[in-house]
Amino acid sequence: MEDSVLPRILVVEDEASLARSLQLELNHEGYHVETAQNGYEALGRISEDRWDLLILDLMLPGIDGFEVCRRIREHTDVSIIMLTARDNTLDKVKGFEIGADDYVTKPFVMEELLARIRARLRRPPVARQEGNKLVIRDLVIRQDTRQVARDGRPISLTRREFDLLVYLAENAGLVLSREAILTHVWGYDFYGNTNVVDVYVRYLRAKIDEPFSTQLLHTVRGVGYTLREEK
Ligand code: CA
Repeated sequence: MEDSVLPRILVVEDEASLARSLQLELNHEGYHVETAQNGYEALGRISEDRWDLLILDLMLPGIDGFEVCRRIREHTDVSIIMLTARDNTLDKVKGFEIGADDYVTKPFVMEELLARIRARLRRPPVARQEGNKLVIRDLVIRQDTRQVARDGRPISLTRREFDLLVYLAENAGLVLSREAILTHVWGYDFYGNTNVVDVYVRYLRAKIDEPFSTQLLHTVRGVGYTLREEK
């Protein structure tokens, strides 16, 4: 696998030896891993790069893990596993309240952390191409006849809605910015603002998601939209 497609994990841990051993273990598991030693460094690394998962120590010099988590959550929904030295229920509750996805108490067994990382990173299969059909979960898109069905029920889409859905499905699992969507679906010569994307996503969502129990079209706050099986 190319390095660029490896899941990217940022380890935020001030204990250098633990950070180093985590990096080695996770590299060995096939992840691209980088480390940050404190909260400020972590916030910088998070704003300048794309990450699939953060391992965030609670006790950090400067700003602590809670504060880092709270600030991150203002602009990204990256998976966050917090590490704490204390088996403290209040810490866990607070961690979840401010948006941590999971929690591991130190000292931990590496296998436990790895299992939690795998669970967080388990990517749903992206859209499958089956002949002329694009399939994601129970959603079937026929590119040749421009027909769409979900759970066996035909869904009527306008031309623009269909083009938007195909672009999202062809890039299923990736987060697409409004600008990218505008360029690909409306074209380079479209003079308008990206609000039109939000409007059409709403139209599309009302047809392909709202009548069904599982949501496929997700909003990634501050970034854009993605079509995938899980949040
Ligand atoms: Ca620490």
